[in-house]
Order: sequence, then structure tokens, then C-alpha cells
Amino acid sequence: MTFKKLATYFSQLEKTSSRLRITEILADLLKQTDQNETDKVCYLSLGRLGPLYAGIEFNLAEKMMLRVISQAYGISEEKAKKEYKKIGDLGEVAAKFDKREKPKPLTVNQVYERLEQIAQDSGEGSVERKISNLAGLLGDLDAESSKYIVRIPLGRLRLGFSDLTVLDAFSWMVAGDKSKRQEIEEAYNNRADVGQIAQIIKSKGLRGLRSLKVQLGVPIMPALCQRLPTAEEMVEKLGKMAVEPKYDGQRLQAHYGIKTRGVYLSHTGCVKIFTRNLENVTHMFPDIVEALGKEVKAKEVILDGEAIGFDPKTGKFLPFQETMKRKRKYEIRRKAKEIPLKFFCFDILYKDGRDLLKRPFNKRREILEKVLPSANKTVVLSPQIVTNNPQELRKYHDEQIKKGLEGVVVKKWQAPYDPGRRGYTWVKFKQEKGKKGGGLADTLDCVVMGYYKGKGKRAEFGIGAFLVGVRKEGQFLTISKIGTGLSDEQWREMYKRCEKVKTGEKPKQYQVAKDLTPDIWCQPKIVVEIEADNITKSPIHTAQYALRFPRLVRFRDDKSPEEATSLREAEKLYKLQK
Ligand code: ATP
Repeated sequence: MTFKKLATYFSQLEKTSSRLRITEILADLLKQTDQNETDKVCYLSLGRLGPLYAGIEFNLAEKMMLRVISQAYGISEEKAKKEYKKIGDLGEVAAKFDKREKPKPLTVNQVYERLEQIAQDSGEGSVERKISNLAGLLGDLDAESSKYIVRIPLGRLRLGFSDLTVLDAFSWMVAGDKSKRQEIEEAYNNRADVGQIAQIIKSKGLRGLRSLKVQLGVPIMPALCQRLPTAEEMVEKLGKMAVEPKYDGQRLQAHYGIKTRGVYLSHTGCVKIFTRNLENVTHMFPDIVEALGKEVKAKEVILDGEAIGFDPKTGKFLPFQETMKRKRKYEIRRKAKEIPLKFFCFDILYKDGRDLLKRPFNKRREILEKVLPSANKTVVLSPQIVTNNPQELRKYHDEQIKKGLEGVVVKKWQAPYDPGRRGYTWVKFKQEKGKKGGGLADTLDCVVMGYYKGKGKRAEFGIGAFLVGVRKEGQFLTISKIGTGLSDEQWREMYKRCEKVKTGEKPKQYQVAKDLTPDIWCQPKIVVEIEADNITKSPIHTAQYALRFPRLVRFRDDKSPEEATSLREAEKLYKLQK
């Protein structure tokens, strides 16, 4: 396929807001790709060069892109900048100045290879090389293709869909409807790489997906929790269960192949640590990497757990915000000393070539206990009790709350690992309904959709209120306009974050009533955890629900907008409070 053709699809996708229509267009696009290019088409249409977890970055900022455009089209940087100020999109600027006749159109694979080379270039002189190679590429492309190519390194392709829509499109491609989506998603949950999934479907059909095993180095979608109102209902639904403390730190999935004398014991060997939204954060946790090597009794493992910071003087666990300070690009070693971590492992998903996802939890736990035999280390076996008694469960829960933890997670004792899904194999138990005089059973993680400028005292912050929403099949529906419940510091932070992601137009995935139109729209990037007293029915919000007395708990940098609370979950919370 030529890149020119791909660009015409991008153009159609960009103009479309109906999710169903987007899925159909994508399915048609994928149908026309060959096996050797289908993965690249998936990645590029998501604005990337590889799976999410590969985290391939161009390191090309706007300023550099202005130089690229200036070189590519022989205009001054000043002129490019002036145009950018007028149009507000560097892609459009490139398209505007691209006037030359082009040679034969490049294929998707050719363009991809050149982009990959640019992204991977590093070391001395790499900035200049990146600029001139990208300018060279633009020179070989037509105006429309250039528009999209410019947006990719800047992280601004934004065709308005995520990996999950691409999975839908696979189903439409093979079956003409969404009937195969679940089967495809199951494969993706075990191996979160849309490109690989596309290639398997192209070469072997859906049957190829059925034998897909976990692969060391490729993240598995982490299992998540459901909510139930009382200890009794938890026991009723799950039966015999393990009860574990719920740590309020950072979820990490560690892939570890042991090295001896600098060589991995197996050819698949690697060391990688992923967050719950599949970000590769290995370099941020050198202490955990080191500890895995010393403390794990296996050649290869995938461990699931929560890392939590502690005060080296008192040994006390630190609040979430403190632990999150470890997530940084610079001064990693210094922070690791200041905020040492314990990595509490509560599951093992793979060991020495064996995929353990289908093994029941009690068996996985036996294996985990053998792999992590020693206490008091950095990599720690999460404690647990096993029970089917609500009183015992409640007692253990209260003990954890007293210790300053969030509560407990209960886990069905004989269930397989349930990647990505919020099935009733894991249930979180934070605060029992009614115990603290009503309130919601849980907080909501909402997406900030826009903000309103402040009046009076608020003018000082530049922001007086903000609009948040929940997710429904790739769209965001409003559920609250929040103008109180933030400290001064939180308002300043909110303003700073909103400014970074503001956009001139309403993002096409937003459904917002006219009366609630914010002064400034924000791209769906910021996820905030919101606590509220109640959820009520609302005719004003497009979610048809509203939050009463909402308060900002914290920014959820560990969650992507696709992981925000869904409308269905909000509905469940609404029903749970009755
Ligand atoms: P919350 O907002 O309540 O922290 P969440 O929305 O991040 O929860 P949930 O699926 O509701 O995610 O809860 C699962 C999260 O709880 C996991 O992602 C993990 O980070 C954390 N956690 C802490 N301790 C445990 C444990 N023992 N077992 C499983 N998950 C745990």
C-alpha cells in the first residue's frame, strides 16, 4: 500500500466522529493491507511506530519541527512560525507549503522504515540528522501525507480512537460485524500488541489467536477489580477467597529473565517493567531490577504487584503521591535512595517458559511462594489470608485500614488470572457502604474535558471550574462541572495541566450539552480521581448522571483516559448507593 493511500484513509477517519463508522473505515483499510505491512498500518494510524509498551519516542519538539518544515520547503523559520501561529497545526503548515511535483509515491513500509530510523537515531549530531532526514522525507511526500507525517513525531496525529477500536475493526474485517471482538480482545489481553494481533489474523486467521501464549517482554493487560457493597455479598459471589491488603502505590508488571555473566539464560530473556497502562518504566526502577536478579528463584518470571514507597527512617509506607515521585526521567538513582520501594508481588503469570494465566490462583500462589521465598527484601510476597467468612474478611479489612492502607482486595481462590477484564474474580473492598454515613462505594476516575475561566478570587488561578466526564465506547460524556473541593495548590496544578492539553476545537469524542460548553477545551489526557457524596440522575449532563459535592482526590497519572470510569461503572455506583 502506498502511504498516499493510507493518508486518504487518515483524512476520512479524521473527519468522522461516529465510532461505528470509524470502525468500518478502519476495517476496510486493514482488509487492503498485506501481512507484511498490516502491523505498521495499525501503529501509524494510532500515531505511533510500535505497540504502546515499546514507547518509541522521536524526541522532536515543535521548535525542531519548524526547522524541518523550513528545510523541506525552502522557507524561513520565521515564515513557518508565522503560519503556525495563524493555523495552529504544524501538519497543516507543512501541507500548505508543499507545492512541488513528487516522484513515485512511497509505500507504507518505506515511510515507516525512514520514520523508524529517525526515531532511533541518537548520540552526537542526532538532532541535526533527525531534522534533515525528516525534511528529506517530507520532500518525497505529497501534501496530505506530509500533514500526517508531521503530526506523528509531535504526538498529535489524534484520529480519535485507541487500540480497542482497532480490535473492533479486526472483527469487522473478518466477520463484517462485532461478533468476534471478545475473542480478539482476549488475545490482546494476553499480548497487548495490536500489530502482532493484526499479523496473526492476516496470516492464520482467528484460529491463530487461539494458541497465542504469553510472551516474556510483551505486557499482559493487568487484572482489575470489581466492586460489591458488603463483605457478605463478596463471600456469596466469590466463595472461598484470598484477602490481601490493598496497597496504594503503583501497579507494576515485572518481566524478568535472569542473566549470568551478562547473558540471559534463555533466548527470550529480558528485563522490563510496565505500568498498568503499558508504559515501559524499566529505567525508572533500577532498584527493583537489581532486586529481581538477587531475590527471584527462577530463570524467567512475570510478576504482578504493587510498588509502594516507604520512609527509610520509620519504615512507614508513603502516600500515593510520594510513591509517584519515583516516576521521573532524571535523577533516578538519587530519588531511589530518598524513596526506597517495596514491590509487593501478588501474582505470577509466567515462569520458565510456562504460561500460568489459566492455572487457578491457589496454584499460582504456591508457585509464587517458591519463587519469592525470603521475607524482608525489596521484592516481597504479598501477605494474605484465605477465608469464606464475612466476619473474618471484615476484621482483616479493618486491620488494614488501621494500618493506613486503602482496604483489601479479595480474590477468588480457584480462579484463573483474568487479564484486562473487570470480572468478579477480584473485588476491592475499600469502605463499606453506609459505614461513613452514606457516600459512594468508590471514587470515580474522570477525564477533564475543558475548563471555565475564573471570576473574582479565582481569576488569580486562571480557572474557576472544570468539566469532567466518563467513558462510553470511545466517547466521553459529561458527569460533573466542578468548581469547589480543590485546594489553591490543586487549582494551580489543574490550570497548568489544562493549559498543556488545551485545544481550539471540541474533541470529536466529546458529547457535551450546549449550556455546559467550557471556555477552553482540553484533549482527553488528564485523568482525575473524584470523590462525591452521591450520584444523582441529571438531565443536564450527557451521562444522564451528576455527582453531588464532588472533590478532587488526586491526579491519576497512572491511568489513561481509556481506563477512566465507564458510564456502566458509574451506573453501578449509582445503584450501589440505593
Ligand atoms: P483505586 O482507584 O481504588 O486505587 P483502581 O481504579 O486503580 O483502584 P482497581 O481495579 O479498582 O483500580 O483496583 C486494582 C488496583 O489496586 C490495582 O491496579 C493495584 O494497583 C491496586 N492493588 C493494591 N493492592 C493490591 C492487591 N493486593 N491485589 C491487587 N491489586 C492491588
